[in-house]
Amino acid sequence: MMKVGITGGIGSGKSTVCRLFAARGVAVYDSDTEARRLMQEDAGLRARIADRFGAEAYRRDGTLDRKYLAGRVFGDPAALSALNGLVHPAVIADFEAWAARQTGDYVVLESAILFEAGLERHVDRTVAVLAPLELRVERTCRRDGCTPEEVRRRIAAQLDDDTLCARADCTIVNIRESELAPAVEELDRRFRYEAHMPRA
Ligand code: ATP
Repeated sequence: MMKVGITGGIGSGKSTVCRLFAARGVAVYDSDTEARRLMQEDAGLRARIADRFGAEAYRRDGTLDRKYLAGRVFGDPAALSALNGLVHPAVIADFEAWAARQTGDYVVLESAILFEAGLERHVDRTVAVLAPLELRVERTCRRDGCTPEEVRRRIAAQLDDDTLCARADCTIVNIRESELAPAVEELDRRFRYEAHMPRA
């Protein structure tokens, strides 16, 4: 099964692009949503998180205490890296198992941290969704009700567009919504074609 990773900074339009792929019948794995699910449901991962961060990471009723965990990793790069080191392998294993169950020409993996988390090594093609900075700030503020400063701070912590462009196999520029569906259609056609080509 060919695998396509889709990434992009906050408010670039990754999820919007992925919805368009899904509308064309492509199975999409949202790594953020699945990571949250696995932290809740995967017994092995739960045990490793509780072992590293303390039993308080889970409440008495078994639900993950996100606030506690966020407090433990905030401003502590070593703790954040330890948490990522537990969660990322679980997501990769789950994605691989999920992809093996799909039947289409190819699947899509959506991740805001495709390159940072090393997920690119688990996909055959990478797509970066790009949009002008101010548009991303405006869209994110409108969607999340946050301040432009908050969004800019989060953008500053992510890979910049030059790096994304250099590392991704292809890009989608998301400015006008009307241009997005044709761009996705073109890539979808290309990926379906490439999925049937013999591998080098
Ligand atoms: P995040 O990393 O924060 O999850 P994202 O890259 O997945 O963001 P989206 O959620 O797809 O981005 O888009 C951000 C917001 O901008 C959404 O509210 C979406 O509806 C809107 N949006 C995306 N693309 C366009 C567009 N071309 N025109 C107008 N609005 C758009």
